[in-house]
Amino acid sequence: MYYLTKTIEISGAHRLELDYPSKCTAVHGHNWKITVYCRAKELDRNGMIVDFADIKRLIGDELDHKVLNDVLPCNPTAENLARWCCERIKGCYRVDVQESEGNVASYVVED
Ligand SMILES: [Zn+2]
Repeated sequence: MYYLTKTIEISGAHRLELDYPSKCTAVHGHNWKITVYCRAKELDRNGMIVDFADIKRLIGDELDHKVLNDVLPCNPTAENLARWCCERIKGCYRVDVQESEGNVASYVVED
């Protein structure tokens, strides 16, 4: 198997829809660190699992300096953001989303 990881840092705002009182329901921002994990049994004809530039374009460029509520079709929690990223990238099986230092959510595709 071939594996790659790429880490992207973006600045983005969000507000969460929660069924309990929280300051996170107000619009606020984070400097997000998103790590994408991809794998493939076979490389494509260019010798890649996926082009690092495609990951930057499909995740970094889509999210950087955006209000994540306007981009994601769901409540933009770190967990939902991890899944959204994973589903956009060829060969992706895991995404870690660090919302702030020490707060990380992961989405992992089960085999
Ligand atoms: Zn937040």
